[in-house]
Amino acid sequence: MTVTRLGMTEGTCLCGTVRFAVGEVRDLAHCHCSMCRKHHGAPFATMARVPSGAFRWFAGEEAIRRYESSPGFHRSFCGTCGSSLPDRSPSGGWFVPAGLFTEDPGVRPIVHIFRASRAPWHTIADELPGFDEWPPRKARPVIERPAPAARTGPDGLRGSCLCRGIAYEVTAPFTRVYNCHCSRCRQVRAAAHATNGLAPVDGVRLVRGEDLAVLYRLPGARLFAHAFCRRCGSGVPRRDPEWGAAVIPFGSLDDDPGRRADCHIFVGSRAPWYEFEDDLPRFDEGAP
Ligand SMILES: [Zn+2]
Ligand SMILES: [Zn+2]
Ligand SMILES: [Zn+2]
Repeated sequence: MTVTRLGMTEGTCLCGTVRFAVGEVRDLAHCHCSMCRKHHGAPFATMARVPSGAFRWFAGEEAIRRYESSPGFHRSFCGTCGSSLPDRSPSGGWFVPAGLFTEDPGVRPIVHIFRASRAPWHTIADELPGFDEWPPRKARPVIERPAPAARTGPDGLRGSCLCRGIAYEVTAPFTRVYNCHCSRCRQVRAAAHATNGLAPVDGVRLVRGEDLAVLYRLPGARLFAHAFCRRCGSGVPRRDPEWGAAVIPFGSLDDDPGRRADCHIFVGSRAPWYEFEDDLPRFDEGAP
């Protein structure tokens, strides 16, 4: 199905440095591959397919960092705030993370792809068609590489960024796990929503890569911040002593945490293109 829309739909990273516009969105697809999950720090990414001539950068191209996640396949991100960004598709055109759109693109998701790789802590709760990898149309580049065997070691749950430069362990149980639909989470993860685990502030131990971690603090926000890997752009855990919590993007976990999100929060701000049909409690703002 091809949906063409007249006019331009704009998008931006969280800090507003990188801005772009698209003139046409063919469709949206939810991608559950482990690389999207890590890069976005979210349960899945939702990608808009945009034809070559229908995409242009407006501002901030000099801030774009690119990481080659598999041969010929790049993942882009803002070097300032860490938002995942659009990049060229190896099969032509652009793939644009829908979480970056500041307006309704007027197109809805039509499919789940890489369903076989989905997170053990995420349930697909809609009726859209799905494929275990790419839809069976033609040969596609290999974008998935084997994830390390998941297990829970004696020391805790393991996690890492996409380039594996940063690795960590969660050594205390999660106190809360939220699917957060606030506009900041959607923009910085460039996804439908974030899934974040909260742990005690000293409940995360960095195994390696401290020098790779960048902390972006949103000006004017009391608590909102985002930590990411400067090499690959993946969301990584951050400690917030003022808040008294460590925030762990579930997308970066390598092991199965053995639990799911408790609820959806800030659903009053959810993406216009995202429908969720699971039975978790929903709150318009934060959890009571
Ligand atoms: Zn930015
Ligand atoms: Zn993917
Ligand atoms: Zn990395």
